[in-house]
Amino acid sequence: MNPLPMFCNQCEQTMGGTGCSHSPGICGKDADVQSLQETILYGLKGMAAYASHARRLGKHDEAVSAFVEEALFSTMTNVNFDVPTLFEIAMELGRKNFRVMELLDQGHVEAFGDPSPAVVTVGTKAGPGILMTGHDLVDLADLLKQAEGTDVNVYTHGEMLPAHMYPKLREHPNLAGHYGGPWQKQRAEFPAFGGPVVATTNCVLIPHAHYADCLFTTRFTAVPGGTRIPGNDFSAVIAKAKACPTLAKRVEGALEVGYHRKVLLDAAGTIVDAVKAGQISRFFVIGGCDGYEPGRSYFSDYAEATPPDSFILTLGCGKFRINARDYGRHLGLPRLMTWASATTPTGPSASRSRWPRRSTAA
Ligand code: SF4
Repeated sequence: MNPLPMFCNQCEQTMGGTGCSHSPGICGKDADVQSLQETILYGLKGMAAYASHARRLGKHDEAVSAFVEEALFSTMTNVNFDVPTLFEIAMELGRKNFRVMELLDQGHVEAFGDPSPAVVTVGTKAGPGILMTGHDLVDLADLLKQAEGTDVNVYTHGEMLPAHMYPKLREHPNLAGHYGGPWQKQRAEFPAFGGPVVATTNCVLIPHAHYADCLFTTRFTAVPGGTRIPGNDFSAVIAKAKACPTLAKRVEGALEVGYHRKVLLDAAGTIVDAVKAGQISRFFVIGGCDGYEPGRSYFSDYAEATPPDSFILTLGCGKFRINARDYGRHLGLPRLMTWASATTPTGPSASRSRWPRRSTAA
């Protein structure tokens, strides 16, 4: 078995002033230690994103904050060379991350109501519009409140789709639907939208100059050429929407959201009975992503091959290729459900059964 590749450029002792590429490195750190420390660092970054969203909803846990400090400390040079200890920290990171996801879910439900299924129109209405992308539902709520009483429509993009399952957001008169596809299409889709775009978190690309004046970001999200909003005052975005040419009516299809675990738990008896009666052959959990290269289709081929009496549960935000197909329904439920997304991380949140695209531009 080949040894793990090693590359570490963490400290000034690094080999040749560039990076320790052989195991062990100058300090004695070997490839296993390096790999575990990187795993911890990546895990902490992900957990910080959820924890930041949860804190904005008033949810935090001192035990999580203390763990973040200690886990970061363990990755410093010459602190920890012990594989079992680092493995223990990595496992604890998983447990703490679950706690953070629980806090975020509680925050969303308390702030925006119990999730329920809903069909979301994909496209735009005639009139001024603002597109909001990212994961921060507090930003969306603030924008909707400030747009209240105007004719400015607000649309979700990307991972903000699950917003439509929360009644207090969905029922807002200015929330008009969902627009656009995966993040890597945004350099074409953002300028084509026709109004300002607000990026609240990650998955924003550095804009081309021709639409940079329409791109706004919030707090720690920022891109060259865009306008950063440090607080929650969206008046400049609303003014921009009014100044832009009116959006055309473009209906491209619909997405169904809202199969949160609370909804499915209500249906648990029916599902268990159906399993016992042989009406459900399998539950498939697909956690991988095909990415955007055309040649990569393992996960979408897998999903397509599942039998019609099965359900597909997806994880993370990288399954946009799987979502491009309609898998139909079984026992009254969509066969494809998002078990966890980057916006709503615990339990099924958004079914992404995409109806065939139909353009009714007027
Ligand atoms: S921490 Fe160790 S392995 Fe990493 S760069 Fe410094 S000396 Fe090299």
